[in-house]
Amino acid sequence: ESLINRIAAGEIIHRPASALKELLENCLDAGATSIRVTVKDGGMKLLQIQDNGCGIRRADLPILAERFTTSKLSTFSDLSRITTYGFRGEALASMSHVAHLSVVTKTKTETCAWKAHYLDGVLVEPKPGQTAEPKPCAGNDGTTIIIEDLFYNTPTRLSALRSASEEYSRILDVITKYAVHNPKVSFSCKKAGSPSPDLSTPSSSEIPQAIRLLYGHSIAKDLLNATFGSKKKPEEDEDMEEEESEVQSSRESWTAEAHFTNANYQSKKMIFLLFINHRLVESSRMKRALEAVYSGVLPKGASPFIYLSLQINPRDVDVNVHPTKKEVHFLNEDGITDQIADTLQRSLASQSH
Ligand code: ADP
Ligand code: MG
Repeated sequence: ESLINRIAAGEIIHRPASALKELLENCLDAGATSIRVTVKDGGMKLLQIQDNGCGIRRADLPILAERFTTSKLSTFSDLSRITTYGFRGEALASMSHVAHLSVVTKTKTETCAWKAHYLDGVLVEPKPGQTAEPKPCAGNDGTTIIIEDLFYNTPTRLSALRSASEEYSRILDVITKYAVHNPKVSFSCKKAGSPSPDLSTPSSSEIPQAIRLLYGHSIAKDLLNATFGSKKKPEEDEDMEEEESEVQSSRESWTAEAHFTNANYQSKKMIFLLFINHRLVESSRMKRALEAVYSGVLPKGASPFIYLSLQINPRDVDVNVHPTKKEVHFLNEDGITDQIADTLQRSLASQSH
């Protein structure tokens, strides 16, 4: 049974960066405004993430790493935050099957922090002979998750990893993207033992400022932006343009915010940040469509920077997509993609005149 769990966990957690993505989302779900990441050996030896969010109640610790343990179902009506493909309570459980998982956490009402260790889904004793229960300790409000020796028992996963420095750059890439998307949250990331962080953002910024800080001035100075979408408010029917009411008839409701470079900016490789309902995802369909828009304005071989945040009714996001299958599908994908491509095209065209 534990082998099967291990294989299943390896399907969810592919590499240090995918573990980190899950952990980051947990911090953000917990309302953290500060997220500190510490990494050793590209995350294979140590992946530690400390937040100042709501913390986990001591009473919830014994079953924390059991599959389908989630505290997020009660907030299912909060459509702006929730996606059908998150919130499965599988991330921590999976990590406990392929790594050593420790948690230090404190809620505001608790007088001390609690520390707990997990192995194969269950709370274990910190040292042989001790009882398996959370131990009181010193700590600030919030949660620190410590993942050690990732894939120590999963040699095939371990051997599929690249060098520590390559895994580390994937980690930095994930944090960078979440930092752009969450400019009000302060992020930092450093290697264990290193005095200065490799990435550090302030806690109150706006998306364009975050892009400048993280991706550089050359991108930021050539940035355009657009906010758009289609709403299905019946009372707005009369004011709708024909094009929009057509979308309405497919019972679609979505909004998008985009920040994208103009024709002056040319990069060798396309940088594309896509968030759907606040989750970092990939859509090669969307990427190709937007790439095609730029092929009309950029010289051959030149690529843009595009940040796109899409909010769709969670009902319309493909529920069959596994949480870590980054490639996402949603209802009226073609229609939405076309409209976004169209908006970018017009924005680029009007800018060049
Ligand atoms: P999910 O996020 O789908 O609920 P996870 O396995 O990622 O499942 O996390 C399980 C539960 O552990 C969460 O529902 C939450 O209650 C708690 N949790 C995990 N990380 C944190 C954190 N950083 N702060 C507060 N609670 C957390
Ligand atoms: Mg989670």
